[in-house]
Amino acid sequence: MEGVLEVYHRPHDPLRPVVCLDERPKTLRDTPRGSRPARPGRPARQDYEYERYGSCNVFLCVEPLVGKRQVSVTQRRALLDFADQLRLLSDGLYPEAEKIALVLDNLNTHTPAALYERFNVISLYTIVSQLLERYVVQDRGAEIARWFLDFETHRRAQAQLSEDEADPEMVVYHEKTSHSTDALDSIQWRHDFLMRKLFEAVPDMELKDDQRDFAREQRLAIFRRDGGLCQLRLRCDGARCEWDNWAADHIKPHSLGGKTTVANGQVACMACNSAKGNSVDR
Ligand SMILES: [Zn+2]
Repeated sequence: MEGVLEVYHRPHDPLRPVVCLDERPKTLRDTPRGSRPARPGRPARQDYEYERYGSCNVFLCVEPLVGKRQVSVTQRRALLDFADQLRLLSDGLYPEAEKIALVLDNLNTHTPAALYERFNVISLYTIVSQLLERYVVQDRGAEIARWFLDFETHRRAQAQLSEDEADPEMVVYHEKTSHSTDALDSIQWRHDFLMRKLFEAVPDMELKDDQRDFAREQRLAIFRRDGGLCQLRLRCDGARCEWDNWAADHIKPHSLGGKTTVANGQVACMACNSAKGNSVDR
């Protein structure tokens, strides 16, 4: 409780807004015999007989220090509706914010698990960062995206099945994404599982050369072979380079699986090198 009071005492900071979010059910009614609007000297009147038309849910976001309010009406108040509200907050209402301090009660759906279930963001993030760092992924983006969407479809279908019917691995995956989601071994397990599934679907992913920078011996060999002349010729006509002022360039870019070898290296003057650096990732 003191923690919440501390949050309410924070000064206004547009980059770190304090936002309260809550919801309440609302029954929908109509009065078949109608009601009478207010008139001078007489309040509005509503008939006591009503018909029920089910119920809906109302989400209310309030930023108290600014007086900003946002009301959303949804059919249900489930985990996924809550996740959508969080996305509305971060992407729709406060896209500029670095961090949103969210004040919530302890309702069962108010957990980060809602986001995980909705967007599976953590898995996607770890997979993509791993791929970008270690694998040759240029031109494979569409394949990887398709795999991820297929996996998500499969995962959701599996979640509807009983434990006896479902793929045992998916049952474990579901457990790991529901409980102790931030435990290191759980994160590691999910990560390995997803990488394994990815490589089943996209088997020929190529590892980048671990060595990205040319060693001094390789640079000497490249410089000597090319006679110190720029081979790239993007901004020059084969300029002669000084030994202490040139770049060793990957002929086939490193990001496309080009190896860091003398055979795949060439002399580039600094002007050509930066021109190439702007167009492709070396
Ligand atoms: Zn050049």
